[in-house]
Amino acid sequence: MVHLSRVKREPSHRRHHRQERDATVAQNPMYANVYATRYASEELPMHVMNQQGMPAEVASRMIADELSLDGNPLLNMASFVTTYMEKEAEELMSNAMSKNFIDYEQYPQTALMQNRCVNMIAELLNAPQNHDTGKEEGAMGTSTVGSSEAIMLAMLAMKKRWQNKRKAEGKDWSRPNIIMNSAVQVCWEKAVRYFDVEEKYVYCTEDRFVIDPVQAVDLVDENTIGICAIMGTTYTGHYEDVKAINDLLVKRNIDCPIHVDAASGGFVAPFTAPSRVWDFRLENVVSINVSGHKYGLVYPGIGWVFWRSPEYLPKELVFNVNYLGAEQATFTLNFSKGASNVIGQYYQLIRLGREGYKVIMHNLTQISSQLRKGIQDLGFIILSDTTGTGGVPLVAFRFPDDENRLFDEFALSAVLRRRGWVIPAYTMAPNSSQMKLMRIVVREDFTTHRCMLLIEDIKQALKSLDDMDHMTVQRYIQYIGEHGHHLPPGHSFYQNEQHSLQGTTGKSHTVC
Ligand SMILES: *Cc1c(COP(=O)(O)O)cnc(C)c1O
Repeated sequence: MVHLSRVKREPSHRRHHRQERDATVAQNPMYANVYATRYASEELPMHVMNQQGMPAEVASRMIADELSLDGNPLLNMASFVTTYMEKEAEELMSNAMSKNFIDYEQYPQTALMQNRCVNMIAELLNAPQNHDTGKEEGAMGTSTVGSSEAIMLAMLAMKKRWQNKRKAEGKDWSRPNIIMNSAVQVCWEKAVRYFDVEEKYVYCTEDRFVIDPVQAVDLVDENTIGICAIMGTTYTGHYEDVKAINDLLVKRNIDCPIHVDAASGGFVAPFTAPSRVWDFRLENVVSINVSGHKYGLVYPGIGWVFWRSPEYLPKELVFNVNYLGAEQATFTLNFSKGASNVIGQYYQLIRLGREGYKVIMHNLTQISSQLRKGIQDLGFIILSDTTGTGGVPLVAFRFPDDENRLFDEFALSAVLRRRGWVIPAYTMAPNSSQMKLMRIVVREDFTTHRCMLLIEDIKQALKSLDDMDHMTVQRYIQYIGEHGHHLPPGHSFYQNEQHSLQGTTGKSHTVC
């Protein structure tokens, strides 16, 4: 609940004091040195805007200074989201910051670049091609803010199509449901809640962290709008067996669409596991989402979603906007957005080419196996893929069961944090005995050398925990529980919610 922030007010006596100073203290002319101005000895505005502003160099310095307390993105091993782009890409992106992507008329080349990205990524996903037959067939796609928006759109399309079918048959269309793994990313929980779709979970077990295809297909009923299969689950990075689900549906002659959530794996599997069949080659796969800002290698703010053909994207969801004279079909939740990320994606696709992505993804696979080996040698149990082709490049691991060990994954995470590494500890999805695990995501900027440094740091962290006696460890764990972070407190009205998987089962939501 960090982002839903409660509005706070400053105590009125302080406000009064601040306004007085604003009005009476003359501006110091020594702007050349930010720290020689009066702003250096005043608190920054936090509750109400000051009457007067401040010089640009002061504002920018104050903000930059404060941001130095944020974590270092390079050490954030919790996230799939891109933390490195070449400076040429950064320059193009910052030059495009003033362009509104929705304004196709004004920025037609940007719109064309998005369409080229759609073509290229669709080809990676083996989307059916458009033949010039005059018939409305073939795949289509659009950019989104991320996979979450992509998934909301895909969910709406599945729901609407199911409803239209039910209405045409004169049947009840009020109780749609969707089938998915209980290890889904939190955006799926949001999507079902926001769009009134009942969730039917296939639960993980202690040794199966992916969806069970038979259980999934067994759950299908006349109200099922689709099955979600994940290419790269958030917890352990495993690819789910989309083909097995597809083949079972075909074998049983069940007409049920599959949506593939390839947020993390969409740009990985085509290069590192080309023989795995999970995409539009499977006839029941009707839509796929990918995050451009994960292994698509673009800074945060871009995702993609594709449909097999117009049949799977009901007309009533698509709006034709007449923007300054140009007719454009759009399907988005938001109207205006920046154009930079689309341009960044196009840069990466033409700059790297297939070979560039392939080399990067192969490097990452290799580095993640070096990391896995190092972690295994430290005595951990590996929970993520060990073959190199069964999941995205990450290492998920836990301590072996050992009653004599005094500390857990959360304590290790806290010790590593002191050195700057962000390596999260989680509680696994429900029905896995509240298993704790840690996860390290291997991103483009993580090299073998940094991997070796990290392994050494984990070793040192374990040693420092081993050296603590029972009482100290207990106190330490309690201490990090109470003082472990500097996040603003959540909104009390929304705390202890009971509707999410987190609320009902204690599953912790992994970051991204
Ligand atoms: C990251 C992720 C999402 C959410 O994607 P965003 O691009 O962060 O909105 C959804 N599903 C999976 C499997 C993910 O890894």
